[in-house]
Amino acid sequence: MSRQEVDQLNEIERMDKEHVFGTWSYQSEVSPTQVVGSDGMRFSDAHGNEFIDFSGQLMCSNLGHSAEKVSDAIAEQAAKGAYFAPGFTTEVRAKLGQKLAEVTPGDLTKTFFSTSGTEAIEAAIKIAKFYTGKDKVVSRYRSYHGATYGSISVTGDPRRLAAEPGIPGAIKAPDPYAYGSTLDPMESLEYIDEMLMLEGDTVAAVLVEPIVGSNGILVPPAEYLPRLKEIAHNHGALLICDEVMAGFGRTGEWFGCDIFDVEPDIMTMAKGLTGAYQPLGATIVNSEIAAHFEDNMLTHGHTYAGHPVACAAGLATIETYQEGNLIKHAGEVGEYLGERIEELAAAHPSVGDTRGVGLFRGIELTKSSEERMPFGERSDKLAKGSTVVDQVAGMAYENGAYVANMINTLIVAPPLTITPDEIDEAIAALDVALKVSDDAMVD
Ligand code: PMP
Repeated sequence: MSRQEVDQLNEIERMDKEHVFGTWSYQSEVSPTQVVGSDGMRFSDAHGNEFIDFSGQLMCSNLGHSAEKVSDAIAEQAAKGAYFAPGFTTEVRAKLGQKLAEVTPGDLTKTFFSTSGTEAIEAAIKIAKFYTGKDKVVSRYRSYHGATYGSISVTGDPRRLAAEPGIPGAIKAPDPYAYGSTLDPMESLEYIDEMLMLEGDTVAAVLVEPIVGSNGILVPPAEYLPRLKEIAHNHGALLICDEVMAGFGRTGEWFGCDIFDVEPDIMTMAKGLTGAYQPLGATIVNSEIAAHFEDNMLTHGHTYAGHPVACAAGLATIETYQEGNLIKHAGEVGEYLGERIEELAAAHPSVGDTRGVGLFRGIELTKSSEERMPFGERSDKLAKGSTVVDQVAGMAYENGAYVANMINTLIVAPPLTITPDEIDEAIAALDVALKVSDDAMVD
């Protein structure tokens, strides 16, 4: 940041910049904005600006910012008993465990609780290893599974590079990315089949986001996930679905894998599990895997596993989804969102591809639509300075809409409670912002 930019920070922001690390950043470029309030779909900063939250912060504030039932449940549980060791249970933990067995597909039945998506993945990897007696995990290049050592090792996107070589046995496969890959999505599956055969009987699990989130909102063909499960099982590997971002109604279904009618062996959850009101991760397994640990030790745990206040938030969040019919609403209003995004695509030549389902949408930018050329390399994510997609998001922000972005794609994932009028408002801001990328095109 320049001297002048630093001068524009208020006292709180300066204090924060000096004493708190920014995540995934060159610290010299970190410019923290002080948030001072929020209401429903909106939040406001200390400089008098108000924003519509078109990405639910990090695709996690699924209930917006005024879910009273959840904040009340948090306060009530904190007053009743803020914390007890994992060896004790609480009403909220037991009921949340049962609720997850109810809303997740099929035979998924028993949950390990943690405090984040990355920990949910760590638990999934260890459980798969303990259960199968095998070490390796196949995941895909266009994926993000978390920042801790195991989960960053099974992550495919450039964020993994700084942690390489990472844990042994983390093997990467190609993706169902129809827009920018030379491999057809279904062909990429046959590649995985071949890979598993060549690895011999050494792979514990295949780990995928059923709908890829931060790596571009990639929705595979209908037959993809069922066939992937078949391939994994044919080679003695489990299927782990990472539902950290796609889960809890974002797609108009409870979980991304529900769209494809596939029941994974293990599923990971976080984000929408509490609508971001509390940090909570969950790893649910089927009854056969659960039974394995009756007489084999589950050598895993955290101080805050099943934290009562977080579980209270989770339970109240799921009840809010159910009572407000919010999953169905997300599907319906998501159709409208899709139509409005198509209008943007028609109006802006720099929109190369639009993808998604429900309230989970990606807008991929291109500098040459004919050649489908991205504005930058994937590794630009790790470079200093801003990319064109950062600048588009910056312009949307200046026009009152907060929109996340990653590697050439804007990610639209608002709270499930959004209305068509609020969608229109945010789309108007994006309409202005996309002129930035239109102007940066080469043709
Ligand atoms: N899996 C997926 C699919 C994610 O999108 C994320 C976070 N964006 C994670 C795992 C890691 O979650 P957390 O940041 O809570 O550790």
